[in-house]
Amino acid sequence: MSTHIYDLFKYDTHVSFEFFPPKTNQGRKQIYQAISKLKGLNPDFFSVTYGAGGSTAERSLEIASALTNLAQVTCVAHITCVGMNRNEVKELLTSLEFHGISNVLALRGDPPKGETRFIKPVDGFSYASELVRFIRENSDMGILVAGYPEGHLESPNKKEDFKYLLEKINAGANGIITQLFFVNQYLFEFQNNLRNAGVNIPLIAGIFPISNAKQIKRMTELSGATIPEELLKDIEKHQDSSEDVEKIGTDFAVRQVEELLRGGITHFHFYTMNRHQQTRNILFQLKRFFPRLNFL
Ligand SMILES: Cc1cc2nc3c(=O)[nH]c(=O)nc-3n(C[C@H](O)[C@H](O)[C@H](O)COP(=O)(O)OP(=O)(O)OC[C@H]3O[C@@H](n4cnc5c(N)ncnc54)[C@H](O)[C@@H]3O)c2cc1C
Repeated sequence: MSTHIYDLFKYDTHVSFEFFPPKTNQGRKQIYQAISKLKGLNPDFFSVTYGAGGSTAERSLEIASALTNLAQVTCVAHITCVGMNRNEVKELLTSLEFHGISNVLALRGDPPKGETRFIKPVDGFSYASELVRFIRENSDMGILVAGYPEGHLESPNKKEDFKYLLEKINAGANGIITQLFFVNQYLFEFQNNLRNAGVNIPLIAGIFPISNAKQIKRMTELSGATIPEELLKDIEKHQDSSEDVEKIGTDFAVRQVEELLRGGITHFHFYTMNRHQQTRNILFQLKRFFPRLNFL
């Protein structure tokens, strides 16, 4: 089963979950358990990441296909420009279509492990906007793109990065999923800039449930997301108790989403890290805002 992204955004609120393809059998067990638990909530879609440098191509397709055909949910497959020429992108699109997948998140991608910068493949694409245009011209896929409320790490400034986001939208994107962030003000400014630019495709806030002190430090370094000092201090104070850190992360995410809802943000994408319990707990506390979620 696969609903086209156009049809998913007809509702007032929206919730989706992101997974990454696991490397081990234990990881496989965990992801299938998480899928079956979170599927029960009736989210709008699941998305599956595509590893740096295409390193997970087969495993990404396996999970995306299982979601679509076994779990019978709508899946958005992430695809990147890394290591693929135009023909290979076309082949990947055909393969996704064959598996019943009708939506993608089109990204430039992170460089492969060991490399520090993105290298344009021969006869490939330099930027996500080029990939979006190519997908639009060669398929009927629903297309989402990435947005950076604090600017992309490689970009000299937010203004410049925003200009390129508009290029992705003009190339045919149907929605924007943001990078994780912990300071809502950045998202409200981003939302404002999109409005002022006349953009009317859905803005989906990327919510990262904090569960581990080490991991959150690494994630904020990798993404450039600002972590409020008070939150960081609280996490550091409790870093020896994973239970306490998870509780801090859950409480923070609940407050974060509540404030975003009050500010008019209604679409949310949870970076689940292939875990289900914490995301479920967060949403349970917010269930009055999401009447289509099912907590039976
Ligand atoms: C929701 C989400 C999911 C993600 N999933 C994955 C994943 O599955 N796999 C993965 O490898 N990575 C993933 N990423 C990370 C992403 O690939 C990296 O952030 C990557 O560095 C940029 O990708 P992009 O699509 O935003 O690139 P782009 O939009 O192409 O931007 C890349 C950089 O180039 C600049 N730029 C864009 N166009 C131009 C231009 N015409 N001229 C000059 N500069 C330009 C931008 O300002 C930016 O600094 C994800 C990110 C997000 C937010």
